[in-house]
Amino acid sequence: MRILVTGGAGFIGSAVCRHLVAELGEEVVNLDKLTYAACLASLDPIAGDARYRFERADICDRPALDRILAATEPDGVIHLAAESHVDRSISGAADFVTTNVVGTFQLLEASRGYWERLPPHRRAAFRFLHVSTDEVYGSLGPTGRFTEETRYDPSSPYSASKAASDHLAIAWHRTYGMPVVVSNCSNNYGPCQFPEKLIPLVIINALEGLELPVYGDGSNVRDWLHVEDHARALVRILARGRPGEKYNVGGHNERTNLEVVGGICAHLDRLAPAGRRHGDLIRFVADRPGHDARYAIDAGKTESEIGWRATETFESGLEKTVRWYLANEAWWRPLRERRYGGERLGLLAG
Ligand code: NAD
Repeated sequence: MRILVTGGAGFIGSAVCRHLVAELGEEVVNLDKLTYAACLASLDPIAGDARYRFERADICDRPALDRILAATEPDGVIHLAAESHVDRSISGAADFVTTNVVGTFQLLEASRGYWERLPPHRRAAFRFLHVSTDEVYGSLGPTGRFTEETRYDPSSPYSASKAASDHLAIAWHRTYGMPVVVSNCSNNYGPCQFPEKLIPLVIINALEGLELPVYGDGSNVRDWLHVEDHARALVRILARGRPGEKYNVGGHNERTNLEVVGGICAHLDRLAPAGRRHGDLIRFVADRPGHDARYAIDAGKTESEIGWRATETFESGLEKTVRWYLANEAWWRPLRERRYGGERLGLLAG
């Protein structure tokens, strides 16, 4: 198989590229614009592999997409390129609408043109996997889980832009018959996550003896999944997912934000003792505007139909992640110093 991965220089995309090339021996073309969130060093383990190739391009650039699709002739597309940080979407939504909505439209149209010209056997086997988030479903109360039938109710500019792109992807199946599959996943964590997201931000701040910001009272619940479990799920959904269907992906790991931050501090107290408890650095700060209270995924359809199940528990995965950031300062230090220093984003003026 030859797979075109968009956003492959990002957190999840790089895990997908590494899984496809290093573990499955597939060919990958990674199409990425290289925004602030990209890090080509995440691809070092496969950069010298003949089965891996990088193309710098913007998914909004239709001629570039047409050229790369024609030159690559992929058997499938895994579409991960996006603006992905909720706080940034609150401060400036334009890039989210441009990349997530307009860019996805351009990629769907370019892929449709390519797919329609394929010979019948390749046309029948082709798949386009649109990778999305559970945040499109909005917020849950204390009970219940999101299923694939849950009504869309996004709260942030980020989740609204992802919801719009999900609707476009499904419409390209219903209208044009294009073999599109959509996946909606819960919060990911693991190696190579840009240090603006909760887990790497807290690890790095704690190592530097800086305050650990917890939004509101820390009671918001997220359902955590290790990024390598997500990468395995995506490749299986691409291979086995039914066109026009949606698949929820999650690891049955609901934790409050305060539990996550406390867990990181406990690991650091053991692995990198600093002469005081890291938990003393926790500070409760102004809540995120429109902060969803709780997300929880029912992944039953994906588990039974696709034959995938998360393998990592949150306890083992979090410890591995803390150890990874401790061992890989050379990966995160340049990002921290040159691209994002940890300042608060996404507060409304006044
Ligand atoms: P990320 O921000 O780490 O990476 C995004 C990548 O997309 C970057 O390499 C960036 O350069 C690239 N990109 C951005 N705009 C582009 C454009 N216009 N053209 C080409 N490339 C562009 O994001 P991530 O956390 O790896 O998320 C990947 C996808 O998975 C996103 O679609 C996101 O919505 C979805 N998702 C993320 C999570 C999560 O917890 N991180 C959970 C569920 C779904």
